[in-house]
Amino acid sequence: MNMQEIGAILIVDDNPTNLSVLSQTLKSAGFKVRVAMDGESAIEQVREELPELILLDVQMPGIDGFETCSRIKADPLTSELPIIFITAKADVESKIQGLSAGAVDYVTKPFQYEEVLARVRVHLQLRFLTRKVQEQAVALQQANHELQRLAHLDGLTQVANRRQFDRYFAQEWWRLAREQQPLSLILCDIDYFKTYNDYYGHQAGDACLRQVAQMLNQTVRRPADLVARYGGEEFAIVLPNTPAEGAVRVCQMLQSAISNLEIVHGRSPISPYVTVSLGVSSRVPTHDVEAASLIAVADRALYAAKAQGRNHYCVEAFPSEMACEPSKLLVKNMGI
Ligand code: GH3
Ligand code: MG
Ligand code: MG
Repeated sequence: MNMQEIGAILIVDDNPTNLSVLSQTLKSAGFKVRVAMDGESAIEQVREELPELILLDVQMPGIDGFETCSRIKADPLTSELPIIFITAKADVESKIQGLSAGAVDYVTKPFQYEEVLARVRVHLQLRFLTRKVQEQAVALQQANHELQRLAHLDGLTQVANRRQFDRYFAQEWWRLAREQQPLSLILCDIDYFKTYNDYYGHQAGDACLRQVAQMLNQTVRRPADLVARYGGEEFAIVLPNTPAEGAVRVCQMLQSAISNLEIVHGRSPISPYVTVSLGVSSRVPTHDVEAASLIAVADRALYAAKAQGRNHYCVEAFPSEMACEPSKLLVKNMGI
């Protein structure tokens, strides 16, 4: 225990002689000391600035030591303060009353100064160790949160990773099957990305992936929406409680957000800038159909968008009364 780090000890006693003798003892042992002569002003002092520990006389005019202790313990801001009673009452009932009021210890008058000092040191040490344990628990909790966050993120693009996608997509599938609400999935693939890498180099390719991922993430707005890196240069966007029409609007927003980035792609046969193709699938999930079926349909829609010349989006949506077959296939061109 470093004496420099220890705050003041508050001595509360209505007897001036007791007060001055105790303060002298503690000061000569190296402690900082504050004093109060009654319960009310002790409580006031504690609220103004927390001491490290309180030595509290039991018999005082006005509110007595037991009441003073109870009030300090009742306030969450001061409840952790260790309080040691100084009492002339050596009977068991008084001791029990003091400890039940929340005191950690008691010293009976007339006291040995060595005993007072020894008890003060023990309780300060306990307080110091408790605080350390609490700080370590908080640090551990923070490290755990950070670890959790990193375990869900893709290192390169800082959007959700594949593992987080798999977990979230399955969870939302089953939740929306119960609620009988629609779930939409968009698969988004960068067009001619191999040529981009070959022409500008792998590092520029990585930077492009980061920019695209961040823009996708900024563009989807609802708290339940999730943008994840599905693999390579492909992203998956989960849109819970969103029907096909809503997902189409999100596609249009995503495509224009990416084209507004104006990432120059000198080797793209279709645009001066980096473009994306999108495949959308949408349905009300049911318990007898696998979540993976929605991914397969979105993949097929993405393939169709590529086949249309890229920089397109395609939608395959199931109306809720149909079991599995796609009802419509829309093909839209951004026409940049
Ligand atoms: P398409 O228009 O049909 O999508 O063609 P594409 O060239 O984009 O697709 P393809 O699947 O042939 O190539 C994907 C390329 O994406 C391969 C690789 O060069 C690049 N790629 C995948 N992952 C990464 C990555 O982490 N960093 C970088 N820089 N490039 C990646
Ligand atoms: Mg691609
Ligand atoms: Mg690809």
